[in-house]
Amino acid sequence: MHTFIEFKLNLETFIPDLNALIEINHKTIETLLSIPEKTYANFVRPFDLMEEDLELLFTPLSHINAVINSEASQKVYARALPILTDYSTFVGQNLDIYEAFKSVKVREYESLNIEQCRILDLNILHFELAGAHLDDASKERLAEINLRKSTLTNDFSQNVLDATNAYEKIITDPADVEGIPESDLENARFEEDGVTKYRFTLQMPSYIAYVTYGTNRTIREELYHAYTTRAPQNGAIIDELMALRQESAKLLGFENYAEYSLASKMAPSTISVLKFLNELIDASRRQGLRELEELRAIAPDVDLQSYDSAYYGEILKKAQYDIDEEEYRPYFEQRSVMEGMFTFLNKLFGIRFVRQNIDLWDPKASAYDIYEGEELTARVYFDLEARKDKRGGAWMHNFQTHCEDIAGCTHLSSAFVVCNFPPSSETSPSLLRHDDVVTLFHEMGHTIHHLLSKVKEHGVSGVNGVEWDAVEFPSQFLENFAYEPKVLKLFAKHHENGEILSDEMIEKLIRAKNFQSGMFMLRQIEFSLFDFELHSKLYQGEEIQKLLDSIREQTALIKPPVYNKFQNGFSHIFSGGYSAGYYSYKWAEVLSADAYYAIVDEGVFGSELARKYKEIVLAKGGSQSMQELFVEMMGRECESKNLLRLSGIE
Ligand SMILES: [Zn+2]
Repeated sequence: MHTFIEFKLNLETFIPDLNALIEINHKTIETLLSIPEKTYANFVRPFDLMEEDLELLFTPLSHINAVINSEASQKVYARALPILTDYSTFVGQNLDIYEAFKSVKVREYESLNIEQCRILDLNILHFELAGAHLDDASKERLAEINLRKSTLTNDFSQNVLDATNAYEKIITDPADVEGIPESDLENARFEEDGVTKYRFTLQMPSYIAYVTYGTNRTIREELYHAYTTRAPQNGAIIDELMALRQESAKLLGFENYAEYSLASKMAPSTISVLKFLNELIDASRRQGLRELEELRAIAPDVDLQSYDSAYYGEILKKAQYDIDEEEYRPYFEQRSVMEGMFTFLNKLFGIRFVRQNIDLWDPKASAYDIYEGEELTARVYFDLEARKDKRGGAWMHNFQTHCEDIAGCTHLSSAFVVCNFPPSSETSPSLLRHDDVVTLFHEMGHTIHHLLSKVKEHGVSGVNGVEWDAVEFPSQFLENFAYEPKVLKLFAKHHENGEILSDEMIEKLIRAKNFQSGMFMLRQIEFSLFDFELHSKLYQGEEIQKLLDSIREQTALIKPPVYNKFQNGFSHIFSGGYSAGYYSYKWAEVLSADAYYAIVDEGVFGSELARKYKEIVLAKGGSQSMQELFVEMMGRECESKNLLRLSGIE
């Protein structure tokens, strides 16, 4: 059995080491391609495992560059990226490799196991979605389209950025900024000609601050108008982009772009996605309307408009559930949260965490080995506290992957969990917000998805090969337990007096999470449905606005003003990776809520379905479609009613 790789990084030798490894890979590919009779064992396996060496070399660099960023790490990282991109372009466009995969599939598919078939299928799919199987003329056209698309998507986001930066609203009357939190005001305040003024912009924290807290309705509308009319020239870009997306989907053999998008996703068909979204509208609409009535009730004299909803929403939220975070933090001391999470995972899945004394990149970082029974299976590294030179946010980064090598040796898995919690010191502990606890559980959900894999084929083990719309299922699944009283009571103890968080305080957390959840759900579905319908056939010009308006008939409880051209700033789908995929947010949430309640309804600990979750969803990683794994675990298809229950929608 292989063991864990020592974590080390030498910035001085990194680039020569990387070049040397890539040189070796090129030679290996040449040798593999020269094999006359290619088989899974002599071609696919070694090809798949080549990826591992590259990951093991590169992950420490990208990890260190993110957690102790320095000029030196940036330099090496920036030099390494194009080398890697060149290599992956070479592999991704190599038709000999594609033909080799196909020939192995023809000869051996029937005799291979599920994991091996999946490796073949995913690799072939990857090549074909890039057009490897097309004739030369189609390939040439596809290349033209791709080039043009990348220019258009880039222009789209540049236009949004320029428009966002071009606008500012200067406020001079102090009465107009009353009630805005001091931290936001601090960013807005400046002096000019001896007068104190306030600058608000369309950038996120600033815009949100005014439309949420700004008392002057005229200014709120001014900002809202500026925000929702940004980048009008993007209308023409959308038209051209949609025509090109449709054309490329047809070239690749799909009816439309939505079908092309689903080819590599878990959702089985365009009909299933539309049905799923429409059902959620039906289920949430009544609650949304009730929430709107509540909102109207606190502003009886106002004809509520889109630019009022955040403002009155905030007032209502304060009145209904004023949660003081500071009251909660003493209950979430970092070390006891960690210990509690380990206890929870032990009780739910029978895994044990054992602290290791290893020198790491920072004295606050820690390593734990994971045991299943007496068997050592994985290692997790935690780097939880904020510090200078560390990238913001939280994430899981997979390092080693559970698999079997050519000699039949099992490789163990490992991963990093990185957060930015308040730092602890000699004298004061690190006290978390409840949101931080949720974040930790979320990242831990990704982590055990990678670490508890039992798959032997590297490319579909752990999070490798998992469909895009299923990746957030295990993370959101685990995150839900951060609201479960039985779980919270394992560790939410006051760090000074040992008092356990009361049921009442837990109840308050849950209700605050679900504030306006009906309206929120409808808004998310509006984006998802617009994105998905738009990519289901070719819409141009005014047809696009008409499509959006018709969806809003169902989803927008307050009708947006006619000047609102939200689509011109919808970067997720016009310049990000979410085209015909925005629905994935909700899709993964439904899976996670469904699996979560199945376990909660069995009493959480000792749950039979928790065992199945571990042995099916976690152990099988990307080796089967999540659709199959989910049905195998639950014994039925996914149902959306548990997402409604989770969001407090009746
Ligand atoms: Zn996530």
